[in-house]
Amino acid sequence: SIQLSNRIRTIQRSATYEILDKVCILKSQGKDILDFGGGEPNFSTPEHISKKAIDHIKCGDTHYTPSRGKKELLSAIAKKLFEENNIRVDPDKELIATPSAKHALFISLMATLDYGDEIIIPTPSWVSYQEMARLIGATPVSLPLQKSNKFTITSQALEEKYSDKTKAILINSPNNPLGKMLSETEIRDIVSFAIDKNIILIVDEIYEKVIYDNHQHFSIAAYPGAFERTITVNGFSKAYAMTGWRLGYVAGPELIISEILKIQQHTVGCAGSFIQQGGIEALTGNQAPITEMLAEYQTRRRLIVEGLNQIPGIECDYPDGALYVFPNIEGVRVGKSTEFAHWLLLTAGVAVTPGVAFGEGGEGYVRLSFATSRDAIEQALERIHRAVAAI
Ligand code: PLP
Repeated sequence: SIQLSNRIRTIQRSATYEILDKVCILKSQGKDILDFGGGEPNFSTPEHISKKAIDHIKCGDTHYTPSRGKKELLSAIAKKLFEENNIRVDPDKELIATPSAKHALFISLMATLDYGDEIIIPTPSWVSYQEMARLIGATPVSLPLQKSNKFTITSQALEEKYSDKTKAILINSPNNPLGKMLSETEIRDIVSFAIDKNIILIVDEIYEKVIYDNHQHFSIAAYPGAFERTITVNGFSKAYAMTGWRLGYVAGPELIISEILKIQQHTVGCAGSFIQQGGIEALTGNQAPITEMLAEYQTRRRLIVEGLNQIPGIECDYPDGALYVFPNIEGVRVGKSTEFAHWLLLTAGVAVTPGVAFGEGGEGYVRLSFATSRDAIEQALERIHRAVAAI
């Protein structure tokens, strides 16, 4: 029989893509499914961004670009990092435009981790971090966050997970699925821990613009002593509703970025040429669509948190940022998170992601994305309420 790599056998399929596939099948069978599984903004990409890319396709901007990305895009990203994040990078040396934040993360991990190295990942976390680390042959080490201390990352907890194989820590703020944002105290603790142990920080800031109330986003790379060991990843998917464009970037010190660039050169080559034009327009054009989307997310967030908390057995906190709520469903008593998700899909036609998919600490919870319409949220709350009441 055909032999595939041992590496691939250790990898789980993506829980969120699996749900998306299941929802597509059920919908194609005519079932009325409300999908809260994916992390996809339900807004269209702002018109001016799409127009710019279309214009560039028409004028023949359809060729390879430098692997690092177009100069104009790199300059726009560097300007943004300086003005908004207080991170100063040389666009010619300390930045790469990548086809998606996901790819930026993958090549960052690949440049950082050897076979057998460990990377500490606070969990619950986005489903792909652990599998990406495993694909590379590294070992993801979970640092389960505790509700009892508000899911705070402490140096004591990091110390407990640290070993002589620890090479890096992966940080995501605002976090998917908890919606939690790092405080300045946490950041200071993380940075001094990393300096003390001489390890790398890989920081995923994809939800930086999707934040609520008075919360403020702080970039780790801007803290004293952090830049030289910090790889900052970001992208256009969430802030500009550009998930299908696949555009992101990675920033950090030249020593690291020049090595990451080799992997981009030998894998995808470069991000799409006219896609990069869309990115330039997103960063330099009208920013009002972000404010509009955010106002809508803020309304939906209240609607979904308040609605879920009215359902007996469900407890839901307000997320600081990102597009998800992560309610505890243990009080509903239909089993673990996977059984709950199946039960909800079959009895209520509502698709959610089981918390267990997000790693240690996720069991007992499910994730719902509120990047769905208000109408869908209202209907889903009613359906969940009815299904729970009928148990
Ligand atoms: N990082 C986190 C935490 C995410 O939730 C996602 C998408 O869901 C990504 C990265 C991927 O972003 P991109 O679409 O740029 O690959």
